[in-house]
Amino acid sequence: QDVLGMYRAHLSKGRATVAELFGSHMEVESEGAWLTTSDGERFLNAGGYGVFIMGARHPLVVEAVERQLHRHPVATRILLEPTVAQAAEALVSVMPTGLDRVHFALSGAEAVEAGLKLARAGGRRRTVAMLGGYHGKTMGALSATAKKVYQDPFRPLLPDFTHIPYGDADALREQLAAHPGEVCVILEPVQGEGGVIIPPKGYLKQVEALVREYDGFLILDEVQSGFGRLGEWWGADIEGIVPDVLLAGKALGGGVAPVSAVVATRKAFRPFDKDPYIHTGTFSGQPLLMAAVQGAIRAVQEERLVTRSMELGARLLPRITEIARRNLPDLLVEVRGSGLLIGVELVEAGLAGELLIELFNHGVVANHSMNGSAVVRFTPPAIMSDADVDHLLDSFDKATRDLVS
Ligand code: PMP
Repeated sequence: QDVLGMYRAHLSKGRATVAELFGSHMEVESEGAWLTTSDGERFLNAGGYGVFIMGARHPLVVEAVERQLHRHPVATRILLEPTVAQAAEALVSVMPTGLDRVHFALSGAEAVEAGLKLARAGGRRRTVAMLGGYHGKTMGALSATAKKVYQDPFRPLLPDFTHIPYGDADALREQLAAHPGEVCVILEPVQGEGGVIIPPKGYLKQVEALVREYDGFLILDEVQSGFGRLGEWWGADIEGIVPDVLLAGKALGGGVAPVSAVVATRKAFRPFDKDPYIHTGTFSGQPLLMAAVQGAIRAVQEERLVTRSMELGARLLPRITEIARRNLPDLLVEVRGSGLLIGVELVEAGLAGELLIELFNHGVVANHSMNGSAVVRFTPPAIMSDADVDHLLDSFDKATRDLVS
């Protein structure tokens, strides 16, 4: 079975090229924090772009999905159906107060599209997004994702998108003041693909206040930062803000199902309330996916993974910083982290790629950052054991030493 050959024959070139950097390994199995390859080697999965806060195949998720699979996986979308109601209620119960209207979708990008549509229908025809921000690659989301190489081949994109520096409240005020009542602001509470960029303390509060002052519309994209990743349920909770719309994705599907959600205030959601067919999707809120969401929320609650994410992050960050400073004195720019979203910025992108390969050689899968390519990103699961943490640190130590030798 020549899998690489089949990749080359049928899949986009990029996927085969990336896979080849890691040799001929094939991942065939996963459990908890660990991946197993076809030749039986095991790797700690600190990658996954933020999907695996509860690890792979968490028993509560698997049990819920299996039960639903054998009972009623896909509904008519005409009759009442319990799982979507229960999942929405469970999700709202962990949201900042006031966010209680939910539309389920499948991908992060699709949630972004729905958020942008709510802003438009609510009269905000201009969008301000952040440099370094990442929101996905469908046409609307891509218009917000500020990266030239992703955008340029696909122009024209949506009109009236402006990108300003992330963390700069003055630049935001300028944009809002120029068009009061017309501006939608979309941003991440911590930029993930941007390379783990943490805004100055108080910035999110300032953004919220400015948006309110100028009658704007605030979309907080928590597709990556949410669901316990930052050591809070949501990045919004760090400074106690309430956006008009909060977007969830990735871990929301329990590491099993493609699920995202647009969660809005009653007022912001009004356009979707007006007509039952104005924003729909065949697989939106289907029982199999909703079982995964319910399992995922239960897993985080019952295992106290939000707290665990905070604790593990607080343990890892100083250790990773210390190792990086010791082993990479000339190649390191900075180590940054919030909860279990940790980035190691090196002096150039090529080195980040090499470090990913060295980490792999020492038994750890991590990610690069799509908008901040010199940053190696760790998004390990919050179910890691002490031995897993030791393995991650030990591998990072060996990988960084090998990188310079
Ligand atoms: N928003 C953010 C903050 C993301 O990190 C991502 C994915 N990296 C997306 C949106 C897009 O999600 P998806 O790839 O599921 O479309």
